[in-house]
Amino acid sequence: MRSMKALRIHEFGGPETLRWEEIPEPEPGPGETVLDVKAASINHLDIWTRKGLPGVKLPRILGCDAAGIADGKRVLLNPGFSCGSCEFCSGGDMSMCLDYGIWGEHRDGTHVERLAVPRSSLIPIPDHLSFEEAAAMPLVTVTAWRMLFTRGRLAPAEDVLVWSAGAGVGTVCVQLAKLAGARVFATASTAEKCERLKRLGADEVINHGCEDVVKRVKERTGRRGVDLVVDYVGKETWARSLAAVRRGGRIATCGATSGHDPLEDLRHIFYRQLEVVGCTMGNNRELMSGLKLLFEGKIRPVIDGVVPMRDAAEAHRRIEARKAFGKVVLVPS
Ligand code: ZN
Repeated sequence: MRSMKALRIHEFGGPETLRWEEIPEPEPGPGETVLDVKAASINHLDIWTRKGLPGVKLPRILGCDAAGIADGKRVLLNPGFSCGSCEFCSGGDMSMCLDYGIWGEHRDGTHVERLAVPRSSLIPIPDHLSFEEAAAMPLVTVTAWRMLFTRGRLAPAEDVLVWSAGAGVGTVCVQLAKLAGARVFATASTAEKCERLKRLGADEVINHGCEDVVKRVKERTGRRGVDLVVDYVGKETWARSLAAVRRGGRIATCGATSGHDPLEDLRHIFYRQLEVVGCTMGNNRELMSGLKLLFEGKIRPVIDGVVPMRDAAEAHRRIEARKAFGKVVLVPS
């Protein structure tokens, strides 16, 4: 039997559980083709899956983003999939489908040399975009779009605060929010990351390692607070998110990289009439809206580095230590 290499875990745990090993070549089923992966990227989801998520079967190949060649065309992979026929799928919001899933979590993913994928999950990419750039963007783009616009209802001239905006999804949030005409407050842990966020378009950058973020936000908004907070950090930032948002404002959460069980003072939520909106991934319309801006060059991928899949453990450690700025991209070698 012909074989190829894949990055796979056989148990949940630290980066040392990642194995670059031989597996059988994929066999495409009806409606499927083989995607020859040229680049894939790491998302925080891969780290959560590696550590152990309910329902994840082992062994598991991680990864939900990929770009490569299928049927002779340059393409990227839609990171989500669904049943395609329920009320939510036919109504346009596949992310509410009971069978909604994501590559690398609910089925074997993209950190592999080749994989069988439905032809309907492939999206052509323009020639000016490299495979590395294309692979860096799908998941963070659809997530940022849904969080800011669909769930967060960000309007032009509103103020938005993005915590730890040097994360992959944050670098897209900053760019999309600016394009939408919002004033963007972005935080990062170092002066260098703050400088890079400014170059990406953030109006106000705050070093959350040494500055009082809530105080700065209140000063710059005339005591009012921002209209929308984007918080995927969780435990470390949640209380400050509740304090930095205006009365009647929204807090959107799509993850919790520092812990999912923050202390929460409910009085902030009812007395100040706040809205907490949960968000995960997004639907095809949201994905294509974001990718259109990428293909037109209106938003750009921010890539921390390109790493061979055999060295993925080191890349996971770099992301977990929050050293990366933007996305870490993997190439199959
Ligand atoms: Zn469905």
